[in-house]
Amino acid sequence: MTVEKKEIDWGNLGFDYIKTDFRYVARFKDGKWDDGELVEDNHISIHESSTCLHYGQQCFEGLKAYTTPEGRIVLFRPDQNAKRLNRSARRLVMAEVPEDMFIDAVEKTVRANLAWVPPYGSGASLYIRPYLIGVGENIAVKPAPEYIFSIFVMPVGPYFKGGMTPINFMICEEYDRAAPMGTGSYKVGGNYAASLEPNAKAKASGFADMLYLDAKTHSCIDEVGAANFFGITPDHQFVTPKSPSVLPSITKYSLIHIAENMLGMTVQERDIPVASLDQFVEAGACGTAAVISPIGGISYQGKLLTFNGDGKEVGPVITKLYEILTGIQVGEIEAPEGWIHEVC
Ligand SMILES: *Cc1c(COP(=O)(O)O)cnc(C)c1O
Repeated sequence: MTVEKKEIDWGNLGFDYIKTDFRYVARFKDGKWDDGELVEDNHISIHESSTCLHYGQQCFEGLKAYTTPEGRIVLFRPDQNAKRLNRSARRLVMAEVPEDMFIDAVEKTVRANLAWVPPYGSGASLYIRPYLIGVGENIAVKPAPEYIFSIFVMPVGPYFKGGMTPINFMICEEYDRAAPMGTGSYKVGGNYAASLEPNAKAKASGFADMLYLDAKTHSCIDEVGAANFFGITPDHQFVTPKSPSVLPSITKYSLIHIAENMLGMTVQERDIPVASLDQFVEAGACGTAAVISPIGGISYQGKLLTFNGDGKEVGPVITKLYEILTGIQVGEIEAPEGWIHEVC
């Protein structure tokens, strides 16, 4: 099947909302989900007392579809997003979306928007945003009587145009991202609302974002606003924080698998005291959007600690990890069992 693609300068796309042809919407009412449907309207009409508007009863996911060299359209580990959405839903006492319904809905939405899936070789991909919101009449602080599960998609460009470039972060000393037994490890909108002010301050100081410390002791690295942290030691260990307030990044667990099984590295999930950041020769932030953002430097108490020398170039281990993971995602490198889900 060949689809006439939209006329888009794929390589120059950013991460901006673009209305595509269809979105998916399903409603949960009286204890069950309806069949779900594809609609063209990109607006939602909901009751003014919906819990998602007042009490943050909302969670979301983010994943991508890619075109392989043979022209197949594939998803990267969508089962992991389905599981994580339901983990978030349970934490916020929301209706869960059965895993097969989630995957079927993602497939339907991608298939309905094939003309928007960037071609192989463009560096661009189709970003998929599933979200779950509490709706219906309710004003007391209690779980909503009804839920909407919806998915929209949009083409997004390669995060780093012209290759990966290191970015700098600033250690956050005035704000916490999330408390150890709070909602930090769940993909909920409230965490993002709370990150906007620190993010604006980081940007105003010339940094890409804040790097948060653990809220309990303020001595160990947690994560960036929307990406997990990892560091590479001189003896090739992949080290990442073990913290109850870090969001379990699917990209990170994929990198861990690659580091261990394809690069023969040792992986450690452990506390990373901020005072020991200089143990790393390379450092990175990882997530679906950029896959890996190499960290050039981290500012702490007014001093900039750089990685891989002066922090201007991307280090060899991060380059390798990035090439392998992105190669797997677009189907150039053979994937571990179950990582690539074919849509068509
Ligand atoms: C989504 C997210 C990430 C990255 O997770 P991926 O599954 O790799 O996309 C990291 N940190 C936070 C806070 C997130 O919300």
